[in-house]
This record gives sequence, structure tokens and C-alpha cells, in this order.
Amino acid sequence: MAYRPTIGLEVHAELKTNTKMFCSSRNDPDETRPNTNVCPVCLAHPGTLPVVNHEAVWHVLRIGTAVGGRLADFSEFDRKSYFYPDIPKGYQISQYEHPLVSGGELAGVALTRIHLEEDTASSIHDVEGTRVDFNRAGIPLMELVTEPVIHDSGTAGRFARELQLLLRTLEAGDANLEKGEMRLEANISVSAREGELGTKVEVKNINSFRSVERAIDHEIQRQIELIENGKSVTQETRGWDEGRQATFHQRFKEGSADYRYFPEPDLPKLRISDIETFSEKKLLASLPELPWERRARYQVSYALKESDANYLITTTDRINFFDAVARALGEDAELTALAANYIVSDLGGIFAKKGTEDIANLPPAHFAKLIRLVASGTLSSRGAKDTLAVLVENGGDPEKIAQERGLIQIQDTGTLQKVISDVIREEEKAVAEYRGGKEAAMQYLIGKAMQKSHGAGNPGMIREMLAEALT
Ligand SMILES: [Zn+2]
Repeated sequence: MAYRPTIGLEVHAELKTNTKMFCSSRNDPDETRPNTNVCPVCLAHPGTLPVVNHEAVWHVLRIGTAVGGRLADFSEFDRKSYFYPDIPKGYQISQYEHPLVSGGELAGVALTRIHLEEDTASSIHDVEGTRVDFNRAGIPLMELVTEPVIHDSGTAGRFARELQLLLRTLEAGDANLEKGEMRLEANISVSAREGELGTKVEVKNINSFRSVERAIDHEIQRQIELIENGKSVTQETRGWDEGRQATFHQRFKEGSADYRYFPEPDLPKLRISDIETFSEKKLLASLPELPWERRARYQVSYALKESDANYLITTTDRINFFDAVARALGEDAELTALAANYIVSDLGGIFAKKGTEDIANLPPAHFAKLIRLVASGTLSSRGAKDTLAVLVENGGDPEKIAQERGLIQIQDTGTLQKVISDVIREEEKAVAEYRGGKEAAMQYLIGKAMQKSHGAGNPGMIREMLAEALT
């Protein structure tokens, strides 16, 4: 029996704006003092009126443009009524019938819509009870909904990563899942018969990219087991428990009618074409190089592997560093590819060990110089690794560091010639074996010569000179 899972994603992302969605309180997700960025509007005092944040609308329209969505001409906000202590008005201002963006595609996944709403306050549960912090109440929140066209967890994970990259590239949001700046919900169903959809379960509390895949896989498996055991899947909302690596029941899902959506009477309708900065031409012109464009360019221009390109485009710091190194190398394809390789494996390794990606001591020009030393054979890959570690730690000129530490390879044939004649004299047995046709003996002789030169010999040159001496 083959089961076909179907997944649709809903993603909420806090937008980076100066002020909140409907008032002039500051939008600062890093504010640690509770109830600091608040005002009568976001505290829902009676008689206050909301005002639409132009910057937030611009962000969503720009995101919509980047994913090739249809931008609405007419748009409006709606009240979504429900009671919760973190929603002081008793309703959230959201969008229902007329979202800002419809359609579009990201990472091969078709989008349904992107709309704008306001974030809720946050509840702090501790031993003293539950307290509410309104700093977050009213922060502009983008909601993006995909079509139910995903059939495996890997695609969902790739989609989420690409969306984070896009939001960061557009400087629309930091989109850290761990900080709750981007929140994922997955609607998952499993169909047992072709052409028939199963009952949908919503999974929330997915706080990391790793959890996206794990939560979806777990939920698919749970539903399959229910079906196999002759039980039915209940329509409900489940949470992802990171500790137990399992989903758990949270609540039974209410339908959309329960929210009693109706157009927000305190806000004007939006006629997008009336606003100059929202013209499609202006929005398109404002787009930087998008993540998938950059990835393709790296792959084509420097023949990078997709995984290496993905590593390099993940953060603005990495992008800026790599682009500066490429410029310092004159955009030479081979040198830049070598640089990419050293950034991903060696520099990446140092970062992983340190737990930070601090390159304050490593200007791109110095890194480029290191790459040129490797390319010219002056520095072995082992020597480059050691030099790089010193560069990251203390900074300095790569050539000087390599010299001071005796890491420069001996390129001088005179010096190497002496090493090679010594090896040939001392290693009679291996020499005889090599002459007798045993190729492996060559590797042994190269190793001996490297040892004699204290690791400073250029292995390529040693091989050539040995082969010549032994013919
Ligand atoms: Zn406010």
C-alpha cells in the first residue's frame, strides 16, 4: 500500500520596519525590557485609531514581486476575531479576501498568497504565573501560504531555507526560526487512495530547519500508522515537541468562519496603483540579486557545486566576503573556485570549531593573497590550512606568516635535487621496486623526500624530479 503525503506550509515572518504595523511604537525585536515599545494604539485603548505602515506594505509587495506573484490593485485589512490574553483588541487586524499578493513560486513550490497582519503580544509563563509583554504586539507580520503541492519533507525544508534567504536578501526580515522571527506551520495529510486527500493535521512550534523535516516525517508516519491500524486521522492542531521528537495534540481546529472576518472599518482601503513607490516598475528596479540568481551565477561563473554555492549565499557576511575575494582575484574563474573551496571547507571548519564567523582579522585581500600562494605552489594545502588558522586568530600578511612558520614550499630545484639524490641513495629497495614496475614505490619515495624537506617540498615537483632521475 503506497501512501501519498500532501503538505502545505504557512509561514509567518516578522518584518523589519522602524515602527509597528499600525502605530508609531518602535519595532525592535531585540528589546529585552518588557512593555517598553508600547502606546495606546498597540495596547488597544478604546478610541485609538490604527494607521497603515507604508514600509511594511512595501516589503510584502517587494517579496511578491521577487516570487513572481500577482500584486493586488485593491487590497484591504480585515478583523479576525478571537479571544486570547495576548491579543488586547479581541481581534487581530489581518487580510482575508484581498491579500496584497496572490500566486507566485518559490523553490519550485506554488504559492497561494502573501498577506500582511500584526503580531500578537507574547505571554511569559513562569513560576509567578503568566505575564504579558506587549513589545511584540503590533509588529508587522507577513503570512505566506503555499499550495498543498509538497509531497516530502526535504522539499519543505528547502522551501523554508530559500524563504529565509529571500527575506534576508531583501532586508525584509532577519527570519531567525530560533528567535521566532519566522514561524512555520505545516498542514499534513496522507492519502491512502489515489486522487483522494486525507484528513489534514496542522503542526506548529517548528523552531528550526532541522525540525521542519523531522516534524513532517514524524507526522506522516503517525498518520500512516493510524490508517494501517484501521483508525481515522482527526482534524486537529498538533505541536512539535523537540525534546521527544514527536508531535502532540494541542487543540481541535476551528474553521475560518469562526473568526467572523469582516473589513476593518478604521482603516482606508488600499488602491495600490495610486501609490507611486508601489508601481511594479519601481518595485522590480528595487530588487537586488535574488538568492537563486546568485546561486546560479556562482555555479556558472566559477563552476561551484550547488552545496558550496548554498553555503556561500546563506548570510550577507558570507556573500560580501566571497564577492570581495572574487574581485581581489580579478574574477578569475579557477582562482575564485579555489577560494570558494577554502572558504567552505577550511574557513568553514574554523568557524564551526569557534562557533562564530568572525573575520575581523581577515580582510578579503589577505585571503585572496593566500589563495594565490596556494595556486602558485608556494604554499601546500597543509601549509595554507595552518596559515589560515593564524590569519583568523591574529591577522597579518599570509606570505610573512607562512615564511615565519617555515610553511613555504621549496620550489628551488637545487635544494630539491640534493634531497632527491639522498633519497635515491638511501632507499635502494624502493628504487629497485619502482624500476621493477611497482608504481606504489613512487608514493613511498615521495613521502621520504617530503620528510627530508621537513614538509616544505612541493610534492608535484618532487614527483617529477624523482621520475626523471629514475628513468
Ligand atoms: Zn504602539
